[in-house]
Amino acid sequence: MTVIPEAAGTPPMPIRFADIAWPTARRYWLANARVPACLLGGDAASPMPLDVEGVVDADILVDDGRLARIELPGGKRDDGIADIDIGRRQVWPTLIDIHTHLDKGHTVERSPNIDGTFHNARVAAAADRPNWTAPDLRRRMDFGLRCAYAHGVSAVRTHIDTYHETVDRSWQVLCEKRDEWRGRVDLQAVSLCPIDLLADEFGDRVAATVAKSGGLLGGVTRASIGNHGAPLDNIDALLDRLFSLAARHDLDIDLHVDETHDAAAATLPIVARAAMRHGYRGRVVCGHCCSLAMQSDGEVDRTLDLVAEAGIAIVTLPTVNMYLQDRNAQRTPRWRGVTVVREMLRRGIRVAAAGDNCRDSFHAYGDHDALDTFRQAVRILHLDHPLQGAPALVGTTPASIGDFAGHGQMAVGAPARLIVFNARTINEIVSRPQSDRVVIDRGRRLDVKAPDYSELWQEQDGRLECGGNS
Ligand SMILES: [Zn+2]
Repeated sequence: MTVIPEAAGTPPMPIRFADIAWPTARRYWLANARVPACLLGGDAASPMPLDVEGVVDADILVDDGRLARIELPGGKRDDGIADIDIGRRQVWPTLIDIHTHLDKGHTVERSPNIDGTFHNARVAAAADRPNWTAPDLRRRMDFGLRCAYAHGVSAVRTHIDTYHETVDRSWQVLCEKRDEWRGRVDLQAVSLCPIDLLADEFGDRVAATVAKSGGLLGGVTRASIGNHGAPLDNIDALLDRLFSLAARHDLDIDLHVDETHDAAAATLPIVARAAMRHGYRGRVVCGHCCSLAMQSDGEVDRTLDLVAEAGIAIVTLPTVNMYLQDRNAQRTPRWRGVTVVREMLRRGIRVAAAGDNCRDSFHAYGDHDALDTFRQAVRILHLDHPLQGAPALVGTTPASIGDFAGHGQMAVGAPARLIVFNARTINEIVSRPQSDRVVIDRGRRLDVKAPDYSELWQEQDGRLECGGNS
């Protein structure tokens, strides 16, 4: 083991993070690593001794940009291979952000939410949409993807506002960006509009666009006018229409569901029944589902039975739920805004955590950093005591929900996309922002930083403007 100078009689200190010589060889061992077992997949998940956080000690052989072996410490080594001792620090796979809005991101300065409520978030977003020219979308989506990449996020699913006036432009830019970023940040996209907009021929146009673009069909289970509340009178017919459109093009479905404190908002069981009616078991994701937490235990039980039976996967958006829910200028919030994640996990329902909106009217903050989402999710959702299993919500589970091969999970044969933290325990990861993390992309240390905010600002008529639509 590499050591730094020490006083006589004291035990050797592990190598300092700043002194690690990051690999340049095609083939090398990352030795003395520690990996949460819940982030190991395939053969690597075979029994290894776990500590109290569910973390295993491992040596990792990287060969030609791939994970060639994941071994217990002292496991057989091939002679002559470079050995990078990382001093028992944590190594994670690069992470997945399975629910974002790259098309809205970084509009917060030019289109602020005047009071931070959900209602005014919608008003501000609708008012800003005319600014979404192709160059504007390109610049902001690219900014978001560069943030994600620098932070060690290698797969992103974004919802795309899909309205009459935006459908062609937004999906064209999305496809451009997806091609441009493929291999660095793999991108999936979901159409997003209130589901009543899909009822007429516009629904056919949306489904055809999504199918042509390789996306997923989505929507919000509320009316186009109004907030989430009691289910629409014709919700069954609207969902039948949405599922039929999806089935016609063989599209998976990802919905925004019951994003409110209003217990009357209970479309989740209705979506579950529709999924089963249309043969869509295991092909539907529901995001938010906040109001479920405000319903009676009996109602929660009945709904979760249906969700489990329909194989619906849930995405919780803890940072944005905490920002938007229970907001009232006259009153301090009493509720964290999140759905019943622990109860879902106990039933074996797949639950991922994701970032949602970033610096727009729905959420004023964020940096497309799934690790930040994880760290906040641990606190907001009490994903701790034990922490064992928590990292799966931004790794293994979204990999399975979104079928993101080679992301969010370390498996022998997968691309060596890794994050090395200056932390030995998950506790140390949760406790600091990890702004000194090292990202390894297909075996090589990534040398990029999140873009400078100044790139979003420009001089216009002698004034400094943020995110103009040039
Ligand atoms: Zn969303």
